[in-house]
Amino acid sequence: MADVLVVGAGPVGLTLACELARHGARCRIIDRAPRPLPYCRAIGVTPRTLEVWDDMGIAREMIDAGLWLTGLRSIVQGRPPTDAPNPALDLPFAALGLPQYETERVLARHLDRHGVRIERGSALTALRQDPDGVAVRIEGEDGTAQEDRFRYVVGCDGAHSAVRRLLGIAFDGAAYPWPFMLGDVRIGWDVPYGMSVRALRLVEGGPPDMFVAIPLPEPGRYRVSMLAPAALVPSAGTEHGIQAELRGPSLADLQAVADDLLPDRPRLADLRWSSVYRISMRLASAYGQGRCFIAGDAAHIHPPTGGQGMNTGIQDAYNLAWKLALVLRGAGAASL
Ligand SMILES: Cc1cc2nc3c(=O)[nH]c(=O)nc-3n(C[C@H](O)[C@H](O)[C@H](O)COP(=O)(O)OP(=O)(O)OC[C@H]3O[C@@H](n4cnc5c(N)ncnc54)[C@H](O)[C@@H]3O)c2cc1C
Repeated sequence: MADVLVVGAGPVGLTLACELARHGARCRIIDRAPRPLPYCRAIGVTPRTLEVWDDMGIAREMIDAGLWLTGLRSIVQGRPPTDAPNPALDLPFAALGLPQYETERVLARHLDRHGVRIERGSALTALRQDPDGVAVRIEGEDGTAQEDRFRYVVGCDGAHSAVRRLLGIAFDGAAYPWPFMLGDVRIGWDVPYGMSVRALRLVEGGPPDMFVAIPLPEPGRYRVSMLAPAALVPSAGTEHGIQAELRGPSLADLQAVADDLLPDRPRLADLRWSSVYRISMRLASAYGQGRCFIAGDAAHIHPPTGGQGMNTGIQDAYNLAWKLALVLRGAGAASL
C-alpha cells in the first residue's frame, strides 16, 4: 500500500508530493486534468513562501523564472499617478512575481527529480475510510476505474474539492456578486520594470471601476484584471475561479476599460490568453477527518487581492508533509 494519495497536482498538491518524498513517505499524485491550466492565476509570491522554497531547495529556480515586484503606481479618480515602492523589510526575501504556470512547472520538475510521476487524466470519485486506511476509486478519462488503498488521502483538489464533498465537510462563506475578467497583454507605457499599476474610480452604490496590471517576467507584459461587462457573463453564478467554459474578453474589451480609467490611454496589444473569473471567500469547517485531509483551495478560498490563496495553500502542504511523514514512520502520534 502506498502511504499517501495526493489528489490534485496544482501548486498545493505538487508541494505536498515533493515534501512527502523528501521526508521519505511513498505517495501517488493524481490530477483529473490531462494537462496543467495555461492561465496565469497567482502571480504574487510572499517572502514566507520563498523561505519554504529555500528549504525545499528550489528558491533559486523560482527566482530565476520570476521578477521582483518593486511597487505600485496608483491612479485614483483620474488624478496624476502616485508611486509607492514596496517597503524594504528585514526579511531574507522580498515579493516575487511568478506566473502560476511557472510555479507549477518548477514544482513538477522538482517532483520528477524525487522520482514521483504525476498521473494525469485520473480523477478521485469515491473514498471510504476505516481505522487502518482509505479505500479510493480513481477513474481515468477513458472510463476505466481502479480501486486502491492508502494510509492517508489528502485532497489538494481545489475550490470544488471532491475530497471535501465526499467527507461532508462544510464550506461556508460568500461569493462576490460581480464577475471579473483577465488577460495577458503587452502594454506600451513607461512604467518601470517590476511595478504594478492600479487605476480606480469609485462608484456610488457599487464596486469601484478598476484596472489592475501586474507585471510578468517578460518585459512589457502584464496580467491585467478588471470588472467584466454584463455582456460577457450573461448569467449570475457563484462558481469560484476561472470560468473556462465562457468566452474570454477580446483585446477591445480590455482596451475599453483601460481607455476609460487610464488618462494616458496606453495601447494594449498581443493578447496571449484571456478569461472571465469569479471570486468567493470560504473556509472549510474542518481541515481533516480521520485519515483524510484537505489543503489549499479545497480548504480555504480568498479574493486574489493580497495574494493569499496559493501562498497559504503551499504553506498548508509544507506543514502537513513533515507531520504525516513522522506519523507514517512511527516517530509521531497520529494526533500530530
Ligand atoms: C485571477 C486569480 C488571481 C490569483 N492570484 C493569486 C496570487 O497572486 N497569489 C496567490 O497566492 N493566489 C492567487 N490566486 C489563487 C490561486 O490561484 C489558488 O489559491 C491556487 O491555484 C490554489 O492551488 P490548489 O493547488 O489548492 O488548487 P488548484 O490550483 O485549483 O488545483 C487543484 C487541482 O486538482 C485537480 N482536481 C480537481 N478535482 C479532482 C479530482 N476529483 N481528482 C483529481 N484531481 C482533481 C484539478 O484539475 C487541479 O489541477 C489567484 C486566483 C485567481 C483566479
